[in-house]
Amino acid sequence: MPGQPPSDAIVLFDGKNGDDWTYSDGRPSQWPIVDDHLACKSGTGNIYSRHKFTDAQIHVEFSTPLMPQAHGQARANSGVYLQGRYEIQILDSVNNPTYANGSCGALYGQYAPLVNVCRPPKQWQTYDIVFHAPRCGPDKKIVEPGTVTVLQNGVLVQDHVTIHGRTTSSDDTDVCAEGPLMLQDHQHPDVKETFMQFRNIWMRTIPETPSK
Ligand code: MG
Repeated sequence: MPGQPPSDAIVLFDGKNGDDWTYSDGRPSQWPIVDDHLACKSGTGNIYSRHKFTDAQIHVEFSTPLMPQAHGQARANSGVYLQGRYEIQILDSVNNPTYANGSCGALYGQYAPLVNVCRPPKQWQTYDIVFHAPRCGPDKKIVEPGTVTVLQNGVLVQDHVTIHGRTTSSDDTDVCAEGPLMLQDHQHPDVKETFMQFRNIWMRTIPETPSK
């Protein structure tokens, strides 16, 4: 049914229950649930799904706030981090110039989106992501880098790009381990607060492809 998670999805947020989300130290998320969405206010901290994954199809809906006084990376910045390591950028990229690989739909710092399909603030948008995690050898070194494909609002913005390492300076060193989905509470010195909204978050595990 349109708008509903598929029957085999792992539902991470259904509009009612935020129990699947914690802070990095394991404390339960304090992001309030308002109507059917998770509301992030600056200062409440990044949140992580309890569910950890390797290869996955991921669906996230988000709505950016109206922040006309803010510019560039300060305007409605958030992000969806795959395994807590690789950021698909969220930004209000409507008439908001910034560096290309930092705009909405970018794999942050690595690839600009193929096209800017960002909707104006306060409208719901979708990310549909296909993520293949890096493959590691027995010595825990990456032997095959990860890849990601992203559709924003149903339009291809990242086409199976090769991931060149973490997009965060996190102290998580084991890039071979499974990881959670992370939603970013981005704090910027130019703005007091950013109010980001998320809803309808689910993922499906992709079975490991047999090696060729
Ligand atoms: Mg961000």
